[in-house]
Amino acid sequence: MTGERLDTVVVGASLAGSAAALVLARSGARVAVVDKATFPRPKTCGELLSPDGVAALARLGLDGAVRAAGAATIRRFALVRPDGLRVRGRLPAPALSLSRERLDALVLDGARKAGAALHLGEAVTSVEGNLAEGFTVKTPARTLEARTILGAWGRYSPLDGRLGRPFFGTPATLFGFKKFLTGGAGSRLADLVVLHVFSGGYLGLSLVEEGRVSLGALATPAVAQEAHHDFDRLLARLSAESPALAADLAGLAPEPGPALVSEPVHLGARGATWGDVLLAGDAAGVVDPYTGSGMALALRTGEAVGALLAEHAAGRVAATDLASEWARRWKAVTGRVFFFSRLFRPVFLGGLATRLVGPATAPLAGLAARLTRGSV
Ligand SMILES: Cc1cc2nc3c(=O)[nH]c(=O)nc-3n(C[C@H](O)[C@H](O)[C@H](O)COP(=O)(O)OP(=O)(O)OC[C@H]3O[C@@H](n4cnc5c(N)ncnc54)[C@H](O)[C@@H]3O)c2cc1C
Repeated sequence: MTGERLDTVVVGASLAGSAAALVLARSGARVAVVDKATFPRPKTCGELLSPDGVAALARLGLDGAVRAAGAATIRRFALVRPDGLRVRGRLPAPALSLSRERLDALVLDGARKAGAALHLGEAVTSVEGNLAEGFTVKTPARTLEARTILGAWGRYSPLDGRLGRPFFGTPATLFGFKKFLTGGAGSRLADLVVLHVFSGGYLGLSLVEEGRVSLGALATPAVAQEAHHDFDRLLARLSAESPALAADLAGLAPEPGPALVSEPVHLGARGATWGDVLLAGDAAGVVDPYTGSGMALALRTGEAVGALLAEHAAGRVAATDLASEWARRWKAVTGRVFFFSRLFRPVFLGGLATRLVGPATAPLAGLAARLTRGSV
């Protein structure tokens, strides 16, 4: 059924979509958010929210709620080679670590409280229209009309295929996987995120709420499959290859159930628009997970596009200027993040990792931590 025409329909109610909807709704715009998932839901992610993501949460007025939900504060990092060489450093500013079940639900709740209409558990099956005439968005349950559309549907959605985006359907060399671990030994990780590089990928360990430890990894399809089929065996194999990993995992046990495996991960910037559809978060570009910047970028680009769409809804930005203005602002928000995350990628991925991680990596990793946040 077609109802009143909205200012914006946001497709994807995760961090980018909810941040945008929150900003839009607060400005008085009529906005609806649609997601195929219902919340809370788990997500393949290392769950480390970098300092600029924490700052974005504060601007959205949500940092207090996130801390109250039990987020762990992380100040230090360690980068570990399979032979045990451990490079340590301090993050440029404190990060937070909270499960995506809790974090995403909190940001979405912020959008709801600000006045956004939510349609959850409904996959968007088509997006048609343009900025001159408006858009029609369809789910199996409803048809929505809007002046503008925001694509915040993440790194790989069937919608990318329907809209003809070129990466869709091409073979992926990387997949993510994720599992929670439990055990008192998790307190070893207080204040710390540890990144272990191994042949075929890397994995991060950090404490989240209630003493759970999040293990998020980016790896070849073969390793991700192994994680899905027999996680215990994978951990045993990696621990046998790396006594340092075995030491970090001692006293921790995977929670029951299969590991979560992500959609294919095609790393890199894709562009802030596709035709007349504005894009934010991973839909506009997927930054390397080792940076711990993906969530921050989702929040920051969501916040920025929400502000621009609000200006458009208020008549201050013409429809004809919207796409080019968003492309310009998206570049300003993302800075050199994609360039530097690609530059340092070989240190973390592939056979090079074991050779390049060395004592000299501490300043390099510290520099990477700053450069990949655009704060230098
Ligand atoms: C292994 C791994 C580890 C990572 N670790 C970290 C980390 O430690 N720190 C960090 O900051 N980042 C990390 N990231 C990156 C981070 O997870 C993403 O950058 C972030 O989730 C992007 O948020 P988003 O809102 O753009 O998209 P997403 O969180 O992917 O959300 C997209 C939403 O769109 C919805 N959707 C998709 N298609 C449709 C449709 N057709 N109709 C309706 N809804 C739809 C989905 O259900 C989903 O809720 C990691 C990524 C991987 C792969």
